[in-house]
Amino acid sequence: MPASRYDWTVSEVVNLLGLPFNDLLYQAQCAHREHQPANQIQISTLLSIKTGGCPEDCAYCPQSAHYSTGLERENLLDLDAVRIAAQRAVQSGASRFCMGAAWRAPTDQDLDAVMRMIEIVQDEGLETCVTLGMLSASQAQRLADCGLDYYNHNLDTSPEFYGQIISTRVYQDRIDTLRHVREAGIRVCCGGILGMGESRRDRAGLLAQLAAQDPHPESVPINLLMRVEGTPLGDAANLDPLEFVRVIAAARITMPRSMVRLSAGREEMSDEMQALCFLAGANSVFYGETLLTTPNPDMHRDQALFTRLGLDADMGHSQPS
Ligand code: SF4
Repeated sequence: MPASRYDWTVSEVVNLLGLPFNDLLYQAQCAHREHQPANQIQISTLLSIKTGGCPEDCAYCPQSAHYSTGLERENLLDLDAVRIAAQRAVQSGASRFCMGAAWRAPTDQDLDAVMRMIEIVQDEGLETCVTLGMLSASQAQRLADCGLDYYNHNLDTSPEFYGQIISTRVYQDRIDTLRHVREAGIRVCCGGILGMGESRRDRAGLLAQLAAQDPHPESVPINLLMRVEGTPLGDAANLDPLEFVRVIAAARITMPRSMVRLSAGREEMSDEMQALCFLAGANSVFYGETLLTTPNPDMHRDQALFTRLGLDADMGHSQPS
């Protein structure tokens, strides 16, 4: 199999997703072993630096100002809070520190503040990632100049289904920001969300869009919808867990050099399902921000699972070349 292809069609990915489960996992495991360390997991942590009140209307998101979910809005965190959170992340063994702000797009003044935060996180020896919404080319360049390692900007779903999830922006806006980030020389973290009522073809469409990027995103977070009461997707139907595993496997096959990350929704997955996801090629996980503020039992559950599976939680900076 060639290392990287950028011309996967939606139909080809639909066919992958429809393979007998064992055949699909076998292909995914072969791709994984050819391009990734077989038994290694990378850990990232997430801190919300500005919570709630977002003007966008993403149907899955409790931070949207369009829905009442009981979430309290918070202003931009101060620098000391970021420093403390970064120090805790180091103690917890994370290698990458992601900061998220609920903005449609940052102002240049917002960006000044975030750049100071990035410097603080860098001083603690962590890789940096931020997710701030849409960026202009000049804003992406400013972030690159301050040494930002990754920018997260998800495509969420297929172009065809996108309008049913978000009405305040269009797919091309996402593609444009991703291009600005890439052209500025920042590594790209880009994935999507499953379980929003999309079809299998939409899931294939998302993967085909991700795999059409040249180079592929270095990180591909695959989220399982967290149903939040008060959002339009608060009572979305359950996604078959094996369909989720199939998408992980197809992500591994279509983007063999990328880190495929289990992100939101992981706390609701059984150990057995997570093990299947790792077998299918997932090799990165997110610890949520609660890790940073409370002693987190999930962290112990994760460590125990990694031990049971013989997975090495890689605390180094392991981006495959
Ligand atoms: S842009 Fe981000 S923070 Fe805002 S509503 Fe959408 S997902 Fe939520």
